[in-house]
Amino acid sequence: MKDVLLEVKSVTKSFAGFMAVNGVNLTVPKGGIYSIIGPNGAGKSTLFNLMTGHLAPSHGQVIYKGKEITALPPHRICKMGIGRSFQRTNIFPRLTVFENVQTAVLSHQGMALRLFSSAKRMVRDETCEILRKVGLLDQMDRICGTLAHGDQRQLELSITLASEPELLLLDEPTAGMSPQETVSMIDLISRIVQEQGLTLLFIEHD
Ligand code: ADP
Ligand code: MG
Repeated sequence: MKDVLLEVKSVTKSFAGFMAVNGVNLTVPKGGIYSIIGPNGAGKSTLFNLMTGHLAPSHGQVIYKGKEITALPPHRICKMGIGRSFQRTNIFPRLTVFENVQTAVLSHQGMALRLFSSAKRMVRDETCEILRKVGLLDQMDRICGTLAHGDQRQLELSITLASEPELLLLDEPTAGMSPQETVSMIDLISRIVQEQGLTLLFIEHD
């Protein structure tokens, strides 16, 4: 049997008496691609929030690589190797593509407070490498708010990759995309997951 990366044990979350997630058990082995599928309102995004510390469960535990991470702060869980994207686009629309990814790389390396110092130059290569991987290098100087929706989602993937995750959690990565954009996004994600030996858990509603 493969090594277990993430384990969710009897996790429950209720919001003022409304049960959004009810006793979920889930095991994610290391390596490969897995999906959580369910209709809108099923509790999928809430489950991600419980895995990444954005919400604390009412009951149950989340274990990553054998360590309990239940309700740890999101930045600590991120540092441990779980990177996630959000269902709705989560970028700085007035910064350029390069600046968005650079900010994420700086933040991952603990240099956010030195944004205007030489730290910026130091992470230039890392930033460009990530942009190359997702195919956005030629758009690095574009203001993000002007990008096509599909490119914004690709940018979001770059921002998630900047934290050098081992487990990648993507919440409806193709939401709002055209059929053509969907196909190229899926190709892109599976190529990156394979090339970098990541484990992917993604949410879709169909
Ligand atoms: P999905 O991602 O599967 O569409 P969600 O996890 O977003 O579903 O939501 C599951 C249910 O929990 C929905 O009924 C939603 O309205 C409710 N919910 C989600 N987050 C909150 C919150 N912060 N407060 C109250 N209710 C919430
Ligand atoms: Mg959702």
